[in-house]
Amino acid sequence: MHPFRYVAAGSIDEAVAVLREHGARARPLAGGTDILAQLRAGRFELDALVDVKGVPEASALRLGRDGLDIGAAVPCYRIYEDPDVSAAYPGIVDAASLIGGIQIQSRATIGGNLCNAAPSADSIGPLIVHAAAVTLAGPAGTRTVPVDSFCTAPGRTVLGEDELAVSIHVPRPPARFGAAYERFIPRNEMDIAVVGVACAVVLDRSGERIESARIALASVGPTPIVAAKAAASLVGGPPSADAFRAAGEVAADEASPIDDMRGTIGHRRDLVRVLTRRTLERAVQRASGGTASGNTGRGTR
Ligand SMILES: Cc1cc2nc3c(=O)[nH]c(=O)nc-3n(C[C@H](O)[C@H](O)[C@H](O)COP(=O)(O)OP(=O)(O)OC[C@H]3O[C@@H](n4cnc5c(N)ncnc54)[C@H](O)[C@@H]3O)c2cc1C
Repeated sequence: MHPFRYVAAGSIDEAVAVLREHGARARPLAGGTDILAQLRAGRFELDALVDVKGVPEASALRLGRDGLDIGAAVPCYRIYEDPDVSAAYPGIVDAASLIGGIQIQSRATIGGNLCNAAPSADSIGPLIVHAAAVTLAGPAGTRTVPVDSFCTAPGRTVLGEDELAVSIHVPRPPARFGAAYERFIPRNEMDIAVVGVACAVVLDRSGERIESARIALASVGPTPIVAAKAAASLVGGPPSADAFRAAGEVAADEASPIDDMRGTIGHRRDLVRVLTRRTLERAVQRASGGTASGNTGRGTR
């Protein structure tokens, strides 16, 4: 492996200064579960890795009146082990608790999952349906980007060479909100999604109509896909099995999958149909006060 400087940054300014000094030859390091494997495999060379775990803003997990702020270096386990966060952000907790396994979750971060921008990344769809935005810091100061416009291509994002992600803000969900994420993988764990679907719904006061909905798809396009037509098809209607099935059909049309060794286009579209229906059922159950938990990542029917 090409030798590189390891810099444990203690502040945003320090991290930005190192990124600026090395340009494309430096990158931030959070949990390291993606980037260290990529460096070892020789996918690219770096002259510096800037560890952001010591940057206070990046290591904070804060639940306030306005929502949840997840520091970009907060490992997954801190998210799902917090009972208040688990209750309010079920879609994000679904993702945090199935990335890798227990050991990976003790290091891996949602920030790193987002910035790595793999089409199969498990957390990006849930962040999108929870309407999250990421705050970036660079030499010119900070800017905030909605997660649904953060990824631009596989492994590529709007991040500049001298920018880092500081934290992700997830607004406080309204009353009668529910969200869920499920993926299909061919084995129990430690695999990447062949397809992932995240859904969020808000029910009206009666609980008999869907007031708003969001659906995001993983692994069926170069970047996460916002299935806006499928979500719109649900609004104003009842949270019924027929409506969920119809939304699944529309979402399958909005997907843009490819054939590869992990699945065919047809298989992936079918998985979008099934997982859309299933995650909508779970999201509505949660919005109605149910506790539909237990994401195994397996099964399709
Ligand atoms: C055994 C194993 C199983 C896995 N299983 C899954 C899985 O089930 N689902 C899944 O989605 N992924 C999985 N992964 C991939 C990986 O664990 C996740 O993508 C993880 O969330 C990455 O987080 P990290 O903190 O380790 O990122 P890192 O490896 O530290 O960084 C990843 C990328 O993001 C950049 N980055 C990190 N922090 C910042 C920042 N603050 N600002 C800007 N850029 C930043 C880095 O430069 C790098 O390019 C698995 C990996 C392994 C090794």
